[in-house]
Amino acid sequence: MPATMLPAINPARCTGCGRCVAVCAPHVLSLHPLGWVKTAALDDAAGCTGCAQCRVVCPFGAVRMMRGVHEPRLTRELRKLIDASRVAALGTTQDDGAPFVSMVPFAVEPQQRCLVLHVSGLAAHTRYLQAREMVSLLVMAAEAPDKAVHDLPRVTLQGRASIPARDSALWTACRDAYLKRFPDVEPMTQLGDFRFVSIQLDTARQVAGFGAARTVEAEELSRVLGGKDAA
Ligand code: SF4
Ligand code: SF4
Repeated sequence: MPATMLPAINPARCTGCGRCVAVCAPHVLSLHPLGWVKTAALDDAAGCTGCAQCRVVCPFGAVRMMRGVHEPRLTRELRKLIDASRVAALGTTQDDGAPFVSMVPFAVEPQQRCLVLHVSGLAAHTRYLQAREMVSLLVMAAEAPDKAVHDLPRVTLQGRASIPARDSALWTACRDAYLKRFPDVEPMTQLGDFRFVSIQLDTARQVAGFGAARTVEAEELSRVLGGKDAA
């Protein structure tokens, strides 16, 4: 039975000192990178006992105990974010291991439950993802003057990229999904040096706003991409 009250950590106050992580008996808190600093986050709401020791030990008043965020709400927020977003930051790795981030438009293929990119064979990120299948994508809500930037809903997706053979069933599914979202680029799909990329997701880190961060496993991501409500 999940705890009724869960810790909500204010990233603007958290210094990343780690006291709450050390005191948490079920080890459901950890430090995560947030820009150049680290901040504490609740990894497993279901494992939290609600003991509030993290709030007690925090010297900076960064932890508040709040009524638990219901998982299905976060799932709906995740689906809303992915459905409303058309571009992502794509992280690949260069041949020397250095990270490389670029902007990519993306679509969702609901039957294969994958993300779809359409990339030029001449682009650096295409070469990198062909050499190393592990990729990461950041999808983030649009910034606005009246929104606190630390609270912007976002999700960091981890997955594996593959390039389906032209005219295969997966290629056709990717093409249909991509053109449904971006009908204007149909002429580009005729060009020989462009190709579709299918990305199967393995895990994700979702931040839905203040105090609402969680890890999302592959099964739930599959349900989100398939358009079905999580159980
Ligand atoms: S004890 Fe407070 S300041 Fe330190 S990591 Fe935890 S939340 Fe952040
Ligand atoms: S309330 Fe207790 S169990 Fe939950 S995160 Fe804080 S220290 Fe850990």
